[in-house]
Amino acid sequence: MPAAFGKCYDPTGRRYGIPTYPWHFAPTGLATRRQLRAQGLRPGGQPVVAQVMLRHRRRKGGAFVAYLYREDLAKPVRPMTSRKWGALALAMLARRTCPQCRRDAGYVIPPSLGTCVTCAYPEEQRAA
Ligand SMILES: [Zn+2]
Repeated sequence: MPAAFGKCYDPTGRRYGIPTYPWHFAPTGLATRRQLRAQGLRPGGQPVVAQVMLRHRRRKGGAFVAYLYREDLAKPVRPMTSRKWGALALAMLARRTCPQCRRDAGYVIPPSLGTCVTCAYPEEQRAA
């Protein structure tokens, strides 16, 4: 393992306080704020769960850090304010609301499932 990699690799958070991964080596299911935004999501008030670290050899003692959030806890970006958009957002919200757990799933409920994925596959969700 290269030294720089080792310095950035701390999945238990013992060294940095929170789990830390080298740049590009974040576990799946975690995303930076910018990556969430690219998917139309926002952290939605959830705490930072981990960070990715990029060592800068030229920057003195420098390390660039980006915080990671859980994609499954991320919320859709707030809809626009105008009435027209509000009505559309309400319609979208209805389509995203799971009829079983009554929660906003964050995505349109798949007609094939009829419920959100969490309700459809409770076992898989618990194992993940
Ligand atoms: Zn549900």
